[in-house]
Amino acid sequence: MADKYEKVLELAKRRGFLWNSFELYGGTAGFYDYGPLGAMLKRRVENIWRDIFVINEGYYEIESPTIGIEDIFIASGHVGGFSDPLTECQECHEAFRADHLIQDITDNPDTLSADEVSGLIKSNNIICPECKGALGDVYEFNLMFKTNIGPGGKRAGYLRPETAQGMFVDFPRLVKFYRDHLPFGATQIGKTYRNEISPRQGVIRLREFTQAEAEIFIDPRVKTHPGFSEVSDIKLTLFSQEGQDTGKSEIITLGEAVQKGTIAHEFLAYCIARTHQYLLRVGISPDKLRFRQHMKDEMAHYAADCWDAEILSDRFGWVETVGIADRTDYDLKAHARQSETELTVYVPYDKPKTVTRLAVKPDMGVLGPRFKGKAGKIVSALKDLKLKDLTGDFIELTIEDEKIRIEKELVDVGSVTEEIHGENIVPHVIEPSFGIDRIIYSLLEHAYFEEEVEVEGKKEPRIVLRLPPEVAPVQAAVLPLLTKEELIKPAREITESLRKKGILTAYDDSGTIGRRYRRNDEIGTPYSITIDYQTLDDCTVTIRDRDTMKQVRAPLEGIAGNIYDLLYSGSFREWC
Ligand code: AMP
Repeated sequence: MADKYEKVLELAKRRGFLWNSFELYGGTAGFYDYGPLGAMLKRRVENIWRDIFVINEGYYEIESPTIGIEDIFIASGHVGGFSDPLTECQECHEAFRADHLIQDITDNPDTLSADEVSGLIKSNNIICPECKGALGDVYEFNLMFKTNIGPGGKRAGYLRPETAQGMFVDFPRLVKFYRDHLPFGATQIGKTYRNEISPRQGVIRLREFTQAEAEIFIDPRVKTHPGFSEVSDIKLTLFSQEGQDTGKSEIITLGEAVQKGTIAHEFLAYCIARTHQYLLRVGISPDKLRFRQHMKDEMAHYAADCWDAEILSDRFGWVETVGIADRTDYDLKAHARQSETELTVYVPYDKPKTVTRLAVKPDMGVLGPRFKGKAGKIVSALKDLKLKDLTGDFIELTIEDEKIRIEKELVDVGSVTEEIHGENIVPHVIEPSFGIDRIIYSLLEHAYFEEEVEVEGKKEPRIVLRLPPEVAPVQAAVLPLLTKEELIKPAREITESLRKKGILTAYDDSGTIGRRYRRNDEIGTPYSITIDYQTLDDCTVTIRDRDTMKQVRAPLEGIAGNIYDLLYSGSFREWC
């Protein structure tokens, strides 16, 4: 019997949500097309994300190229270390994620080196899952798609493996845009590319997918959030490091979680709250959502704390769908080193501070002619000296890997007392990173129901997608009861009035009314409006609710406004 994943994908394919890409040519794993209904659903899911993070939080959206130059990914660590362990079957040459093959043998396969994984595969006699052939040595396979920028292959480029780097690279411009004021954030929703080794999990593991990411730059000394009191009472399921040790998750308020130190600080907890609200709003079942903390050996060495929103799926179990991390100053420092540019924000003090500092005055009359082009760098290095550097007869400096000695008498050292009003700091980064495709698959699965319903005294099966009205791709269906001109005309007019309100409306006059209801239930259309002969008499129509299948008679007048209110606020304006 088909499991829920197969049923959902069958419906998604048949009704135009998700299609295997390149089907005409036999398809390739790891790529999916969004069909007409899927693309609309995806837009709505992305727009709700915008509503929360861009409009309400004020983290403006940017759009950077999907190809990046090599420097970016050297700085980010992707060139050096964005890889998965790969093993190839010596017989059929199928490639496998080696860490997935040892999942039942060891608890945390991600933490092992390629050699360690290789050793475990050999000592446990693991063979090719496809043809039972012997597996080859494990090596690290870089997941970035590499390309060349311009002709001649001189300049390497990479398809971006995450949208985040766009925000880091634009940091100097963003600081100016936000007028040097922390905290500030920038977001991006866009395509990312990872050359996954063996994407066998449909839409869960893709080679091209959409991320929605926010990079929020905060003052490292202020990890509180002014809006935390609004969300501190939200209760959610946390699966903390301790909980994972004992195998227990707990339902707890965010306020308590911060107070107990389970979540590192308020700012991170605030982002977890907004993520929770977002996922429920797009249709994730609250009982199939939990937040799992990264274990110490799984967390990036620089991260202060990191939580994944995991969503329960029938076939795949708990799937990581959103990562929410305090990345500290790692990314900005890495890009500062690589680009040799200071990536800081000037933060004024509440009250000026009086400091005494070393004042170093080099004798440029001698140093200039002696060091020529290097003199500028030498002067900067001299100005950065500390008292402890001035104990010997000479001052030792390293400039461009060259050791340089300068006689002490060429440098006049004194001290000055001054008032300083602020300092340049490297902000810390809080990053919520969403995988939109995993969210879409999960909400389809959570919305999918098979039921038996009674229609005119007979039991009939029905499939219904109980999508939140806000995300349903088709939001209303207009159905003339019969294909008679006197019913078609008002039905077309109603369709027009709904479309003018921005409601995506399907007009459907083919087949029995029961069939048309079923067709709309299956794609999650929240409301169907039926026009019958009574409409011509008393100017009323029937509105049918997808979930309860209840029908109400409603006035034709103001119908578009009423449907709009139903979709977006869940309330009837004139009738109930
Ligand atoms: P990461 O940068 O690996 O933490 O990924 C951020 C989010 O992107 C994850 O939580 C997933 O939802 C999503 N994601 C990562 N890899 C894939 C993939 N191969 N296919 C689909 N979604 C993915």
